[in-house]
Amino acid sequence: NVFDDTDLDEGLKKNIKRCKYVKPTPVQRYAIPIATAGRDLMACAQTGSGKTAAFCFPIISGILKGRSSSGFSPVSRGAGVAYPTALILSPTRELSCQIRDEANKFAYQTGVKVVVAYGGSPVSQQLRLLEKGVDLLVATPGRLVDIIERDRVSLKRIKYLALDEADRMLDMGFEHQIRKIVDKMHMPPPGSRQTLLFSATFPNDIQKLASDFLSDYIFLSV
Ligand code: AMP
Repeated sequence: NVFDDTDLDEGLKKNIKRCKYVKPTPVQRYAIPIATAGRDLMACAQTGSGKTAAFCFPIISGILKGRSSSGFSPVSRGAGVAYPTALILSPTRELSCQIRDEANKFAYQTGVKVVVAYGGSPVSQQLRLLEKGVDLLVATPGRLVDIIERDRVSLKRIKYLALDEADRMLDMGFEHQIRKIVDKMHMPPPGSRQTLLFSATFPNDIQKLASDFLSDYIFLSV
């Protein structure tokens, strides 16, 4: 199993085996070592390329490693405000739920809590789940802005940010919301937030987003 040779967390590796992933896809082969080394990344990836695992593996591994070295409590919660460690932004409800489902398989029995928030359905149940604690939040931009404005989630402790299908998010008119969301993140010294940007195409507006959100990033096209 080639995933054994990566720096990923051991519990995660067990789950990768359980999912019967034996050999990384091309985007995984290059993205995972770059991301586990802590580098920002802008990657070209189409649907079906295995991109979900390419950003979920390093993020879940980072959450788990951060936890065992710091001894922080497994679930971050405050007075009704959720403090996720990682955020994955995606354009649609369908894609967000798919990412949530995959992330849950990879996080099986690790204690990493995954919550999804998307528009077009009542916010109350999503808020109830957030209240129980969240490590990894998967969200569509509009609904996340709504939840931030209700003061039910804070992005001040985000260490990992992934943007999936960034070109599609811009096509759908989410740029303003995405910028608002990233503005809410704590502005730590360079390097303390790791950002992974995935997109099928790289027009000028995506390159601008990358230069605004990523620092000293590696460009990957497979
Ligand atoms: P994605 O491009 O992330 O939507 O993934 C496409 C499909 O490939 C999903 O059903 C994944 O579960 C599957 N998949 C991704 N990576 C691997 C891998 N390394 N080995 C086997 N299946 C994979």
